[in-house]
Amino acid sequence: MLIHGSCHCGNVSFELGWDPDPSEIPARACGCSFCVKHGGVWTSHPRGALRIRVNEPSLVSRYSFGTGTALFHVCSRCGAVPVVTSEIDAHVYAVVSVNAFDDVNHSLLRRAPASFQGETVASRLDRRKTNWIADVRFVEGGA
Ligand SMILES: [Zn+2]
Repeated sequence: MLIHGSCHCGNVSFELGWDPDPSEIPARACGCSFCVKHGGVWTSHPRGALRIRVNEPSLVSRYSFGTGTALFHVCSRCGAVPVVTSEIDAHVYAVVSVNAFDDVNHSLLRRAPASFQGETVASRLDRRKTNWIADVRFVEGGA
């Protein structure tokens, strides 16, 4: 399955290859203070392949807080947050927002709250290495 997603204005878009086709897609409503504010709901497939296209990199704000280990890619033109990355041992891992999906039947989404409060930084990074998308490429510039 090839999932397409984008921010609202299209400055940031992505393709997520999900193989084999998912019978359901986990959709984690993150309980961190930032995701509560903007309604962040994330998914990842550890063996997925993610290609992120950014047409105008100057119009993407990279926001982090707390432990500073996750980078939220916020489109500064439209305010949507389609992607989060985390660099661990010089490797970039990512999750994508199910709210940014353009062509996924929402009945596939298995929604659940997620709280990672109280997690140590080490266990947080280990969890991301296991669960987040490990094959991530950014492409910058116009299509
Ligand atoms: Zn945008």
